[in-house]
Amino acid sequence: MENATSFIASIVMSLVLSLTALSCASTTDSGVIGADRKQLMLVSESQINEMATKGYEEMKADAAKKGLLDQNKQQVARVNEIARRLIAQTPIFRGDARDWKWETHVITSKDLNAFCMPGGKMMVYSGLIDQLKLTDAELAAVMGHEIAHALREHGRERISEEMVKQGVLDIGVASGKLDPKYAAVAGTASALLLTLPHGRNQELEADQIGVELMARAGYDPEEALSLWKKMGSAGGGSPPEFLSTHPSSSRRLKDIEALLPKVRPLYKP
Ligand SMILES: [Zn+2]
Repeated sequence: MENATSFIASIVMSLVLSLTALSCASTTDSGVIGADRKQLMLVSESQINEMATKGYEEMKADAAKKGLLDQNKQQVARVNEIARRLIAQTPIFRGDARDWKWETHVITSKDLNAFCMPGGKMMVYSGLIDQLKLTDAELAAVMGHEIAHALREHGRERISEEMVKQGVLDIGVASGKLDPKYAAVAGTASALLLTLPHGRNQELEADQIGVELMARAGYDPEEALSLWKKMGSAGGGSPPEFLSTHPSSSRRLKDIEALLPKVRPLYKP
């Protein structure tokens, strides 16, 4: 029987091997804004995308059953047009995004929220558009920011960090050889994708890539500033749902202001 010490040693060894195999990479090309941080990845892209797609399908089915999916045709058309223009620019950062099965839907909800799951599954909450009275460019700023999280695979990175914390190295979902002791992690992974807050590095990268995407797609990148100002003053005491997973700091506006000179030349109204 394996003793605890050799078990730990084998974990450390597989961790080292996994790190060597998977961590020495940046998920995207850098664009003019230059996002090229190396990322720790302990789970495959296909595993994460499979979990994300499953979670997204469930959410859509649930919303449709309650009559909350894509109700306002005009709003849905507007959101889809903005998504189309932003998605057309994503190959600047990664060529394979051309082949992603992108999807965009609007859910009727009072929440001020939006997300883009790994692999390009996007959801915009109607409360965000209605309550903040977002312009097209501000909406493009939120969606560009969300798309950037997906392009940089920040969800996969957060799950990988969570696996390190829990001492789990391979959740084995895609291979179909799911070890029962890892089932809990796999089961919660798709929930974690929607609830784990992004770190400061990830937020900065999403702002960088987001403003470049919106500028290239023909939306005034200055409006990223007005978006975050609106977001910051929204909620009347309780902060928007969005800010629980996208922690904002007073530095964000300064950081975005510093990015504008780089992306302004890309913007043609
Ligand atoms: Zn974010």
